[in-house]
Amino acid sequence: MYRCQICNVVAPPGTPAERVVIETRAAEYPSRPKAQHHRVGRKMKYADDPGGAGYEIAKEAVACPACAAEHRAKAAAAEAAEFGA
Ligand SMILES: [Zn+2]
Repeated sequence: MYRCQICNVVAPPGTPAERVVIETRAAEYPSRPKAQHHRVGRKMKYADDPGGAGYEIAKEAVACPACAAEHRAKAAAAEAAEFGA
């Protein structure tokens, strides 16, 4: 039992909850030289963390299956509109 954070209705017991991504943000992490260390025999070995860039979740909501499906369809349409044209 949980309250759907999109339609605000309490879901009946046994209903699976789905987490939907409401908002993402661009993120960039710099590389960190010699951040990873592990032992090989008696010696420590150091490896670089390559860092990276992409999108990370900024806001997430617990939703009932109906709202989650609707949100997925909307997100797919928005993405198609953004990259399709
Ligand atoms: Zn809902």
